[in-house]
Amino acid sequence: MQNNPNTTLVTPAAPIANHTHGGRAKCLQRLVRLDLPVPRTVALSFDAVQRIARGEMPDIQAIVSQFPADALLCVRPSSEDPDWGGPGAVLNIGMNDARYSDLAASLGEEAASAIFTRFVQSYAVDVARLDPDMFDDVTEDGARGLQQSLYAYEAEYEEPFPSDPAEQLAAVLKSMARAWDGTSARLLRQAKGAPADAGLGLVVQEMALGVGRGQSGSGVLQLVNNETGLPQITGRYLSQSQGRDALEADSEAVYLSKDPRGTSLEELAPEVFAALKEHAALMRAKLREEMQVEFAIEDGRLCILDGVRVTRSSQAAVRIAVRLAEDGIITRAEALMRVQPRTLSELLHRQVSPDARRDVIGRGIAASPGAATGQIVFTASEAQASAARGDPCILVRRETSPEDIRGMHAAHAVLTERGGITSHAAVIGRGIGLPCVVGASGMRFNRSKRQLIAEDGRVFEAGDVITIDGTSGQVLAGASKMREAALDESFQTLMDWADELRDIDIRANADTPADARTARNFAAQGIGLCRTEHMFFDSGRLTVMREMIFAETSQDRRAVLERLLPMQREDFTQLFSLMKGKPVCIRLFDPPLHEFLPADRVGQRELAEALDLPLSDVTRRISAMSEYNPMLGLRGVRLGVTIPEIYEMQARAIFEATLEASKDGAAVVPEIMIPLVSAKREVELVKLSIDAVAAAVRAEQNKSFDYRLGVMVETPRAALRAADIAPYCSFLSFGTNDLTQMAYGLSRDDAGRFMSDYVRQGVFSEDPFHVLDTEGVGELLQVGAERGRAAQPGITLSICGEHGGNPESIAFCRDAGFDYVSCSPFRVPVARLAAAQLAISDQISRSEGK
Ligand code: PEP
Ligand code: MG
Repeated sequence: MQNNPNTTLVTPAAPIANHTHGGRAKCLQRLVRLDLPVPRTVALSFDAVQRIARGEMPDIQAIVSQFPADALLCVRPSSEDPDWGGPGAVLNIGMNDARYSDLAASLGEEAASAIFTRFVQSYAVDVARLDPDMFDDVTEDGARGLQQSLYAYEAEYEEPFPSDPAEQLAAVLKSMARAWDGTSARLLRQAKGAPADAGLGLVVQEMALGVGRGQSGSGVLQLVNNETGLPQITGRYLSQSQGRDALEADSEAVYLSKDPRGTSLEELAPEVFAALKEHAALMRAKLREEMQVEFAIEDGRLCILDGVRVTRSSQAAVRIAVRLAEDGIITRAEALMRVQPRTLSELLHRQVSPDARRDVIGRGIAASPGAATGQIVFTASEAQASAARGDPCILVRRETSPEDIRGMHAAHAVLTERGGITSHAAVIGRGIGLPCVVGASGMRFNRSKRQLIAEDGRVFEAGDVITIDGTSGQVLAGASKMREAALDESFQTLMDWADELRDIDIRANADTPADARTARNFAAQGIGLCRTEHMFFDSGRLTVMREMIFAETSQDRRAVLERLLPMQREDFTQLFSLMKGKPVCIRLFDPPLHEFLPADRVGQRELAEALDLPLSDVTRRISAMSEYNPMLGLRGVRLGVTIPEIYEMQARAIFEATLEASKDGAAVVPEIMIPLVSAKREVELVKLSIDAVAAAVRAEQNKSFDYRLGVMVETPRAALRAADIAPYCSFLSFGTNDLTQMAYGLSRDDAGRFMSDYVRQGVFSEDPFHVLDTEGVGELLQVGAERGRAAQPGITLSICGEHGGNPESIAFCRDAGFDYVSCSPFRVPVARLAAAQLAISDQISRSEGK
């Protein structure tokens, strides 16, 4: 038996590993090595259990003979990862009439009956697979209850209850092995990330009865609070109980340490309690993890039955990892590896509480994490009015456009019917930390009736309260219980450690001073993308912008731009000052101009009034400017080439702000980025004009400054022709939103409609706007980077599309030797951690010689 790899007694030297016998068996071996009072245990390997499921039984007598002849046994599952679950434990195997008489003599009839009844009932349900209802008629306790249970079993199964302990054990092992192979168990564990061939081990352990004379009972103890991760002795103890009875809701369990609310184990059995605490602390130190200790007391004697990793909230996960490292139990690198980047993202936002009831009325793409509750509003102006009244609201739109920005700022969350992960609502939502669900195409949005119709047909009116869960993509009826965002000093500490170890820079995409503040608070190393068009949607500026668009001549246009110049200069001065010398990369104007014009009649009438033009002129100009495919039309650098005054104004604003912000600090070196480039001549032309503006500003102010010009590589041609383009540039930044759109020929604003079908049918493994397509788009990135670097050694390379904050994209960019990734400000902590984890994994592989 000992050292038999498949059926082994758990001793310090037995051949037991996580991947052969499961986590529970391995943990028990560690406890045995620590010399803790663990009852005798036999571990069955994954192979042995697989064979049992096929009907090939191990030598049951050999297993039974490992235990004292009168011992009762229990069997528990031991999967590789405890989260993958497993069949329920079966306790008290070995009970029969003879054992009953012995126990009745030694412990009393009541205890013996309770133990036997429990076994009969769990055997009937878990092993013989009988209906639990069959015990509804068992009305009595004690010996009568036992008789009733045995009678019910025999009546239903039409066979006497098995009395041979070996036969009982064999049946338990068989039923647990087969349960693991059942379809629902398989689906459940696969949903938790278990591989299709995940194995199950089993442990057979001698029972510590927990029932009988003296102080007897069972319970669990842990040293931290599950929610906060702060030190706190937590758990329950129940006299005369077994298993996890103490945790049942209606049990009369007592506290562990002294507690003003009631009796405690510390008072009932002070020495046992002290030993238990000591064992728990030893387990924490040696197992290098916060463990929940499962224990039993048998007539005053303490047994440690098991240890499982403490379940924990996101906040607790971070604090536990940091405390373990601060206590010298694990290294900082290990602490970093123990926190999932996703966990941080949960910490940064309010979330629907895990125990909240969810009345799901719709589903869409989880476009921006966090959750919020509010009243439905259907327009941006209603959102603003609602905010002015102090009422939280949810902005519900078919899709959002730049005109909705102010409404988005006013709302607590956004829901759209259309759109994908890079649609307007999604990008802005992530940028400002606003929970957002997009592409909820199963719901109907009836704006004229001001109704939102749920997937199940329920009708919600303007003013009704809903909750948006941007983390899961669900829309919920009513107000949900929330868990608050929780950034504490442990989070800061973990982030500091991440920065010590990572080897790729992380910048933020930030358009406004508020974004820049968030970016700075999350220790972004600069701004990697400032989308300047977002600065023109402020109400005071929009009309001026529209006037500029309507200008007939270049001279008129320049005159209006003169009025926009001080506003832009102020924007940039603020950004430079806030970022305190960290790089700020400003992208010149990108969208087609007609995005700034009103789409509806009311707006057009207002515009006609504001510009003192006939309405017909306004509508004619708007329709003349409309494009069949604006995303591929007159936008980006094409505007810069055909209407150069706009970029010239922006360049002047940037340079004047540079000098302004350099006055009381280190010299600012702005970065200017040209969007949507596809040909070298575009860069040449824009560079010429920007250089000229720089020369003019230097001459006017008699001051010098430097600046860096770069290109946003977001058309496939720019990536392929990077060798032509790079010589004009200090940096290339890959805009993977447009690059993905153009590489696939897939509209980023419309793909949401069919993306879920595509992913479900396996056409795409993931939404490529969400997870970087490292094969196709990735090849363009690689080609662009290589050719760019060959033509201009030392050129700075980065990515600034929405993929920038995803751990997979960061891995790709690191491997390709990029200098930084830039992502929305709230993704910065996630990116810092993910980058550190990649560096640590590399170090580990290197030290293992892989
Ligand atoms: C991009 O295309 O990847 C990008 C960052 O720019 P935008 O999303 O503003 O088009
Ligand atoms: Mg783009």
